[in-house]
Amino acid sequence: MTLTVLFAASDANWAEYAEPLRAAIAAAGLTASLTREAAPQAVDYIIYAPTSPLQDFAPYIRCKAVLSLWAGVERIVGNPTLTQPLCRMVDPALTEGMVEWVVGHALRHHLGMDRHILNPGHVWDPSCPPLARERPVAMLGMGELGTACARALAALNFPVTGWSRSPKQVDGISCLHGDAGLDQALSQAQIVVTLLPKTPETENTLNARTLALLPKGAVILNPGRGALIDDDALLAALDAGQVGHATLDVFRVEPLPPDHPFWSHPRVTVTPHIAADTRAPSASRVIAENIRRGEAGEPFLNRVDRGRGY
Ligand code: NAP
Repeated sequence: MTLTVLFAASDANWAEYAEPLRAAIAAAGLTASLTREAAPQAVDYIIYAPTSPLQDFAPYIRCKAVLSLWAGVERIVGNPTLTQPLCRMVDPALTEGMVEWVVGHALRHHLGMDRHILNPGHVWDPSCPPLARERPVAMLGMGELGTACARALAALNFPVTGWSRSPKQVDGISCLHGDAGLDQALSQAQIVVTLLPKTPETENTLNARTLALLPKGAVILNPGRGALIDDDALLAALDAGQVGHATLDVFRVEPLPPDHPFWSHPRVTVTPHIAADTRAPSASRVIAENIRRGEAGEPFLNRVDRGRGY
């Protein structure tokens, strides 16, 4: 039987994904018509990005799953017309990219690289940074991405405390959960990485109260979602020196508006939501594997729990 797989994402996504998807679907032993237009009642699977005009899933009565190209699903998870199983993207290449971004920016701050890269006065300052083993890190979110980043930092000897919703055990990482766990993780962290999904519970996880728990001068890396941080509280903490620097990849409004104070703040680094991108060849294999699972009656990978919102 030929499956109908609707690609509901942007033109740019289509240009990037059409060939890798066709190859991955064929390699998975499936026969499918991958299309950008189809009668809704004929569609078996939808490959989806929230930038798509498709917002009403009700007519897709035969659709067995909606397969997101994005790891974060906050823009789709609450759609009341979406009753089909929803799977988010867990792409090994995206994880690799996130590890590189987090480790790179953590090392920038840990080693104080700016002091030497930006040294207009040609100051000879021979002071050495501490070792990584002396620089505690808090990883807020210990899912696919947070755990991979925590492991990479721990491999460099950073003492890493991970924080998640449910209790966890990860070799080499001290794992905490719950409100008390958050306070404990923050109270000792010189570098905080936020890799939580955006849900009603995680919004403003870093706020005036929790930022005040940090050791003075701590650094924040946010490649998760803008809403995890209260912008005004962060700006106040930066101005007071409570937070030494914030490297932010994600924002409440994207692109970050030109007049947003983050652009000009001397202790904020803005990266334009590039921490980790889904890569078409590996992501296509993940999508094809989920279609194969759907057809074989096996559980889908990376299925979103709508109750939790991620
Ligand atoms: P994930 O596997 O779903 O992991 C989410 C983690 O957050 C889990 O450890 C979860 O705890 C924890 N969490 C959720 N709600 C919580 C709460 N209320 N309190 C404490 N912990 C909570 O997600 P992921 O794949 O690692 O991705 C994380 C986020 O990264 C995505 O949602 C997306 O927003 C962002 N992202 C950004 C980029 C970028 O380029 N900047 C790229 C990809 C993804 P449990 O383990 O207990 O469930």
